[in-house]
Amino acid sequence: MSTEPPAPALSESAPRRRVSARIGAIAPSATLAVDAKAKALKAAGRPVIGFGAGEPDFPTPDYIVEAASRACHDIATHRYTPAGGLPVLKEAIAAATLRDSGYQVSPADVLVTNGGKQAVYEAFATILDPGDEVILPAPYWTTYPEAIRLAGALPVEVFAGADQDYLVTVDQLEAARTPATKALLLCSPSNPTGAVYSPEQTEAIGRWALEHGIWVVTDEIYQHLVYDDAVFTPVLGVVPELRDTTIVLNGVAKTYAMTGWRVGWLTGPSDVVKAATNLQSHLTSNVANVSQRAALAALTGPLDVVEQMREAFDRRRRTMVAALNAIPGVTCPTPKGAFYAYPCVEGVLGREIDGERPTTSAELAELILAKVEVAVVPGEAFGPSGYLRLSYALGDDALVEGVGRIAELLGRAR
Ligand code: PMP
Repeated sequence: MSTEPPAPALSESAPRRRVSARIGAIAPSATLAVDAKAKALKAAGRPVIGFGAGEPDFPTPDYIVEAASRACHDIATHRYTPAGGLPVLKEAIAAATLRDSGYQVSPADVLVTNGGKQAVYEAFATILDPGDEVILPAPYWTTYPEAIRLAGALPVEVFAGADQDYLVTVDQLEAARTPATKALLLCSPSNPTGAVYSPEQTEAIGRWALEHGIWVVTDEIYQHLVYDDAVFTPVLGVVPELRDTTIVLNGVAKTYAMTGWRVGWLTGPSDVVKAATNLQSHLTSNVANVSQRAALAALTGPLDVVEQMREAFDRRRRTMVAALNAIPGVTCPTPKGAFYAYPCVEGVLGREIDGERPTTSAELAELILAKVEVAVVPGEAFGPSGYLRLSYALGDDALVEGVGRIAELLGRAR
């Protein structure tokens, strides 16, 4: 009989991780962090002005709230719906897609998700395998790279700066393409830059993806918020042949001032939508039934309230961009969509401001919050340093006061 002691259990030789490597690697959402910091200061009585949040300041329109209120009193709403969503809501999403984007979707190819964010996660989880690469135009919305990595895949950033109005070219995409490229992320109008691709640019990018068999995941959540001569172009509207390899993400949050209701959706080829629905059936099941009823009222209601909100955003956009461009060292391309301005602040970095010398946009954002109590999100949340994101989805007076405080602080740079 052997006198050898038994081999130590794994837990004795190598302590197990408390948080898994996969989840431990996730960066916290920088946009939510800035917003939380600003809200905490506000709650403590500080006169903070927050440009951090990506949500409209308007209340959800009355007819939507009333539909939800009625739904609360209906026992049918107290129950589960199918995991993929209320059939009547899926039909309304298909009808709204035809109305607003101009192409047909079968209600069977719709998955109602817990906000657009869940649609992002599920889209990538459904089509990506470890080792796949996803081309990610930068600056990008902060959730995309995390969702791509959670699926075991690799985000490959392609950067377009203020000098190219934050719009990537096909040549740049082609330079990033490898045999491992599985998908391209498109977000137009863009969070964080407000950039909008023209129909010609969208078509050129779509044709390139089609030619190389690359999937397109297109986030169209800001489709109703475009300004000046910009038009929203659904990629499937200009390259319909991409249908079998495109997932469209959308939701009611931004269009109808419904961020808190948590209703988004994805549409795509039947096999992908079916697989994503299976995933959701184990993850969260259906979106809150009352919220689905609210989204139904939104999508089947008039678009004139949406237009009123768009006009208010447009007015604020002009005010903000003019005020930012008047600050020495700051350059802000005019955003054509969504509700964000994305100024380049490289001309300010490295200079002395009130005894400090910020060298990154993260340091500058901290300084702005500390000195003049204005919350902005640094470019590091969306790609390289050198930029700030300011949402103009807040009241006109607060907007003027907030940008005025930043101008006054940066005016002291030397
Ligand atoms: N996509 C983009 C580009 C966004 O900016 C957001 C919200 N910040 C979402 C999706 C998700 O929106 P929600 O989950 O609130 O529907």
